[in-house]
Amino acid sequence: MTQPPSASLQLGEPPARRDRRLLLVHAHPDDESINNGATMARYAAEGAQVTLVTCTLGERGEVIPPGLRHLTGAALGAHRRRELAAAMRALGVTDVRLLGGAGRYRDSGMMGTADNDDPACLWRADVDEAAAHLVEVILEVRPQVLVTYDDHGGYGHPDHVQAHRIALRAADLAAEAGWEIPKVYWNRVPRSVAEEAFARLGEDLPGLPFEKAASVADVPGVVDDERVTTAVDGSAYAAAKAAAMRAHATQIEVAEPYFALSNGLAQPLFTTEYYELVRGERPRERESDLFAGITGIVEDAGSTGDAGSVGGAGSAGAGAQGGEV
Ligand SMILES: [Zn+2]
Repeated sequence: MTQPPSASLQLGEPPARRDRRLLLVHAHPDDESINNGATMARYAAEGAQVTLVTCTLGERGEVIPPGLRHLTGAALGAHRRRELAAAMRALGVTDVRLLGGAGRYRDSGMMGTADNDDPACLWRADVDEAAAHLVEVILEVRPQVLVTYDDHGGYGHPDHVQAHRIALRAADLAAEAGWEIPKVYWNRVPRSVAEEAFARLGEDLPGLPFEKAASVADVPGVVDDERVTTAVDGSAYAAAKAAAMRAHATQIEVAEPYFALSNGLAQPLFTTEYYELVRGERPRERESDLFAGITGIVEDAGSTGDAGSVGGAGSAGAGAQGGEV
């Protein structure tokens, strides 16, 4: 027997769709789509305000398409800025900011490379100074939810580590200035989910345009399942996520439900995205909504929680690349 609709609505559905404000802080254009593309598309479609802050333009990224490999440095940054704008159109996200303005912080390159010593790179930035730019955004947007990487940056890239530090520092400074973000999350992948997906990938690999597969160890943020507090089912937005990832063509090759970065190693494209709540009351059972338990959101009684739909690249219409991007 199913429950009466009113009961299931109360128990199973978040009460409101409006007045939800989600802030994501990422290091480079493409990180947002890989980590949170389905989440961003879903919340944007549901009427939440989704704000992305990207810290660098990814000027040190390795370019995949041979025809674009002449792009380096500032030219690559400018190109990736356009890729980011296209990805946001695919996700239906209109509020995109570049930390401190375009080009303020340069890509630091992989850990241990000479690029780490560039005084203009994010890795060399003063955390408090960089965080001050983000505090402005937080005080303007007043997000209830912040999503970023863990203290290892998910996999140790200096810009990801620094994005983490800046995000957490900004959250502290914003709290002192009058807006405490109720829930802060790190991007995660449960180990069992990663292992299962890679087992499937092993079987599918012969039919894919990638010669080799990555391994679980190559996926940022993989942790034991019990640490994962939240799973956002974005399967209805799989096409939007794939379109957003494709928009980052210099960095990503997509063959759904897999993709590869410049190393050419296939990995799973997750459409359920996972999180670990690190600030806020840890739920006893795994949540399905980043906003679960948030009070003060205006009730939208007419909503039944329908996910709506979002199309592929370009469907969000003109003017979708708001903010500074
Ligand atoms: Zn990155």
